[in-house]
Amino acid sequence: METDFDPIEMEMLQLATAARLLRTAQRIACLTGAGISAESGIATFRDTQTGLWANFDPMQLASQAGFSADPGVVWRWYMDRLQRVQQAQPNPGHRALADLEARVHRFTLITQNVDDLHERAGSRSVLHLHGRIDRFHCNRCGFDHALTMQERSAPRPPQCLACGDSVRPSVVWFGESLPGRILDHAWRAAERCDVMLVVGTSGVVYPAAQLPLLARQLGAHLIEVNPERTALSDMADAYLQGPAGVVLPDLLEAI
Ligand code: NAD
Ligand code: ZN
Repeated sequence: METDFDPIEMEMLQLATAARLLRTAQRIACLTGAGISAESGIATFRDTQTGLWANFDPMQLASQAGFSADPGVVWRWYMDRLQRVQQAQPNPGHRALADLEARVHRFTLITQNVDDLHERAGSRSVLHLHGRIDRFHCNRCGFDHALTMQERSAPRPPQCLACGDSVRPSVVWFGESLPGRILDHAWRAAERCDVMLVVGTSGVVYPAAQLPLLARQLGAHLIEVNPERTALSDMADAYLQGPAGVVLPDLLEAI
């Protein structure tokens, strides 16, 4: 008896399954992570940090403790990352998700990314669970701060115009809670969707990682796109192994 599976045939089968699930879905939710921006040249946290930042730990830099200990170093790290984000361009993976949104009546895009590449690819409504790297507010009183060019290249964070404390990027740091209203929307989308598409996330940062599990528990189908297997891969109805910039355009074409 023939027991070997042809890997190419298996891949085609997974793609066809995913396309069918998306084609027949009434409500689709999509969760993206750092992996979708990797092909735009923005490093994931799990990639080793390079150059100037090789010896710094992102878990320490992206935290209130790190900012209190050395606001200057944290500020310069964010200004460097902001510049990389602004120089980067959306890739075919971001564009495929914007196309999917345009085709589907009920589509919710939830991202853990702090970059704006989904928006620049044409996605119209993006829930940023972890905030945005191009927005700023006071670390003490929360007052919004519009950054000047001079402040961007300064070695230390600017001071809040309302209370004089340090201004920080409006991203969610390790140990902080997520913006409540955005998390509520994301939660509701996960509860109501019949397909959840999970792209480029290792699924180890909570509560974001809970969203696909919740969707599945309530009966939704899961589709995962990631070059590496994760804890979700075995429970996914379709696991599409590969980079988002290649797999997502193929998937869109197959729908
Ligand atoms: P992560 O770094 O934990 O995992 C990235 C995942 O992407 C991995 O599973 C990896 O296999 C996968 N991946 C790598 N290249 C890929 C590709 N070309 N296509 C598809 N998948 C690919 O990222 P995470 O799960 O988002 O969680 C880490 C945290 O880091 C988040 O809180 C996020 O806010 C933050 N972060 C954001 C950015 C950004 O905004 N672009 C960048 C780095 C880190
Ligand atoms: Zn203030």
